[in-house]
Amino acid sequence: DGVLITGANGYIAEYIIDHLLQENYVVIGTVRNKSKADKIMKLFNYSPDLKIVVIPDLTIPHVFRDIFIQYQNQIEYVIHTAGPLGFDYTNIYEEVIRPSVEGTLNLMRDISRYGGESIKKFILTSSSSAIEHPDGYVNNKSIHTEETWPSITQSEGCKNAVNGYYASKTFAEKEAWNFYKQGNLKNCKMCSINPDYVMGPRLFDEEVVDVNSLNYSLQVINEFMDVGLDYKIDDRPMGRCIDVRDVTRAHIMAMENDSFIDKRIVLSNEIFSEPLILQYLYDEIPELHGKIPNPSKTIIQKSPKSDENRVVDVDYSKSAKLLNFQYIPLRQSVADTGKQLLKLYK
Ligand code: NDP
Repeated sequence: DGVLITGANGYIAEYIIDHLLQENYVVIGTVRNKSKADKIMKLFNYSPDLKIVVIPDLTIPHVFRDIFIQYQNQIEYVIHTAGPLGFDYTNIYEEVIRPSVEGTLNLMRDISRYGGESIKKFILTSSSSAIEHPDGYVNNKSIHTEETWPSITQSEGCKNAVNGYYASKTFAEKEAWNFYKQGNLKNCKMCSINPDYVMGPRLFDEEVVDVNSLNYSLQVINEFMDVGLDYKIDDRPMGRCIDVRDVTRAHIMAMENDSFIDKRIVLSNEIFSEPLILQYLYDEIPELHGKIPNPSKTIIQKSPKSDENRVVDVDYSKSAKLLNFQYIPLRQSVADTGKQLLKLYK
């Protein structure tokens, strides 16, 4: 069985590929340039079951045609993880929103044109940013569920990079469901995976070598690795999160189980905050003693904005019921990430 996965060099995608190879799938991964292709092949030890294809721009019409022709009748699943992620953009529409929406639709169009009969499922890696509005609780005090969509508009999305990311995920996922519901994918079914903030180490230590090129998910933990003993801890919740290994598991389950068809699967576990991240780093990594405060022994000043609820109320029990496994606790995600990052400080 073959799986096509876009953005093969990504943080989440690498875990999915690793899992698929262990389950003896043949994996065809796309990356944006040759050096990334070489790097990923090397990281996976030149596995004969991993084929990497360079696609510099996912938005060019018919760009997936050759893959579907070359691997005709061999691809059963398509997982679309590639998409702009980060906050360092100047032209938000051109760099974030358009590539996300067009990249997704373009892939789906090519599945429908060239994919043939073999493709059973299209799994879209969406986000909780396609569930809640960037203003979160301030903007919407109702309980968020798998059916919730943010009310974000394009002009709001273009205001800043955070809004741009929310808009990019929301519009891409909406367009994907519309395209699918119009029957364009024929026999191929769809499921979206909507993770909250993803935590946990990278699959390969070799990719954690430079503080300036850490991926978005590792940056949040890295910020606390060297804060110093006098750091003023902010007590406010920062958001909800989920471990990358649970996100991987959900993608595989969505591929292999028909009960996930037509569903938005929201992955959301604990609320994270500065006191929690620092406490778990302090408890689990003795090397950090003397470098970071121990929150349980620190008087944490209440933030002037403490009453401002920064996290929305959620009920994702439908997803949890389908997944039916215990999520990795935040303590472990933080500890594993911190231990991996520690190598940067040695
Ligand atoms: P990474 O940044 O590690 O991977 C992103 C992948 O997408 C890379 O392969 C990257 O390629 C590719 N990509 C970025 N921009 C473009 C573009 N314009 N055109 C084509 N490919 C592009 O991120 P993650 O693994 O964390 O994210 C994977 C998916 O999961 C994304 O869709 C993201 O929105 C979603 N997600 C992530 C969360 C998180 O907290 N990490 C939370 C919720 C959802 P390149 O290396 O060449 O830039």
